[in-house]
Amino acid sequence: GGQRTKNVLILMSDTGGGHRASAEAIRDAFQIEFGDEYKIFVKDVWKEYTGWPLNDMEGQYKFMVKHVQLWKVAFHSTSPKWIHSVYLAAVAAYYAREVEAGLMEYKPDIIISVHPLMQHIPLWVLKWQGLEKKVIFVTVITDLSTCHPTWFHPWVNRCYCSSQEVANKALQEGLQESQTRIYGLPIRPSFARAVLVKAQLREELEMDPDLPAVLLMGGGEGMGPVKKTAKALAESLYDKVTEKPIGQIVVICGRNKNLVASVEAIKWKIPVKVRGFETIMAKWMGACDCIITKAGPGTIAEALIRGLPIILNDYIPGQEKGNVPYVVNNGAGVFTRSSNETARIVAEWFSTKQDDLKKMSENALKLANPEAVFEIVRDIHELAKQREPGAFPYMLTSSFTSII
Ligand code: UDP
Repeated sequence: GGQRTKNVLILMSDTGGGHRASAEAIRDAFQIEFGDEYKIFVKDVWKEYTGWPLNDMEGQYKFMVKHVQLWKVAFHSTSPKWIHSVYLAAVAAYYAREVEAGLMEYKPDIIISVHPLMQHIPLWVLKWQGLEKKVIFVTVITDLSTCHPTWFHPWVNRCYCSSQEVANKALQEGLQESQTRIYGLPIRPSFARAVLVKAQLREELEMDPDLPAVLLMGGGEGMGPVKKTAKALAESLYDKVTEKPIGQIVVICGRNKNLVASVEAIKWKIPVKVRGFETIMAKWMGACDCIITKAGPGTIAEALIRGLPIILNDYIPGQEKGNVPYVVNNGAGVFTRSSNETARIVAEWFSTKQDDLKKMSENALKLANPEAVFEIVRDIHELAKQREPGAFPYMLTSSFTSII
C-alpha cells in the first residue's frame, strides 16, 4: 500500500522527570530508526484538555511527594481494582468529550501511554469511537518493579514491561503473555548511543580533571535528603590532614530552586558544581564515578547504562520501593537513609575501597539495557505493519459526541 506518514501520540504527564524522559526517549528512537515514516506528538493530554483532577496531576504529584504518608495511602488505597475502575469510569464519562477532542486533534494511528493513569480513559474513548481495531494502543511501563495496577489494561495491543517482575504483574492483572514484551526501561538515545569520553566531558563541564566525582541528585523535582547529604560530603571528601580534597561533587537539584540556593550556601572546600534542571544528564553522568539518588526508575536505568554505582538514599513509597532490591541485590549499589553513612561510603570508594567501586560499576553495566528503547519502537513498527493499510481511520467514524 501507499506509504503515509503515521501519527504517533505519546501520552505523558509532567510528574517528576521520568515520564517526560521516557516519552522523549521513544520519540527520539522513532526518529533515529524510521525518520519521516512517523510523526510524533508528545502530549500531556490531561493538562491540555481536561479539568481537575486530571489536568493537575503535576500539582497533585508535587503535593503528594511532599506529604509522603498521604502518597502512601493514595497508592495503596487506590490499588484494589474496583476502586480505581469505578473512579476512572466516572472520570472518563465526565471528561470523555475533552479527552476525545484531545485524541482526535492528533489523528493518531498509534497511541503510546507512558503513564499509569492513561490507559482506561483513552481506551474507552477509542472503543466508543469504533477505533479500537484501527488505532494501535500500547503501554510502556516506566516503573522498574512495584507498579500500580492502573498501568495494566487488557485491551492494549502491547504492554512493554521493564522487568520480569513487571511482566508477572501484567499476567496477574489479566493480560495475555502475547501482549507483553520485556525489553527494559526506555532511555533516551543520548544515553544509549553516544560515545562519551570522561576526560573530554570533564573539560567541557569545567570539572577537575583528576579527582573522582560523585553526582548527587533527587529526580526531576530534587527530592530526598539532598541538602543534608551535600553537607556530609563536604566534610567527608575533604582530607583534614593533608588539607586537600579527595573527591569532587556535582549536585543537580532539578526544578527545586530553593535547593540550589541552600546547596550553594554550604561552605565548600572541595570542587563543586551546583545546577538546577539539566538537559544534558548523559554528560553529567558520564563525567562522574558514582551517583547518589532517590530510587527513581529513570535515574537508576540511566546510571546503570553509564556504569555508575548507585547509593539510594530515599524512595517514593509504593512505586519506587521495589527499585531498591533491584539495585542492591544485583550488586549495583547500596541503600542507606543516613547522610553520614552515604558520605562515609563515598569517601571509602574514593580512597581505600576503589575495588568495590569498580566491581559495582561492572555489575551496573551488566544490568543496563541501552537498546530497550530501540527494541520497543521496532516492535511497535511491526505492529503497525501488520495493520491493513486501508482507509484512513478517522474518515469512517462517527463522533462520540453525536452518539450521546
Ligand atoms: N532529570 C533531568 N534533569 C534534571 C533532573 C532529572 O533530565 O535536572 C531526568 C533524569 O535524567 C531522569 C528523570 O529526570 O531521566 C528522573 O526520573 P526518575 O524516574 O528518576 O524520577 P522522577 O523525577 O520521575 O520521580
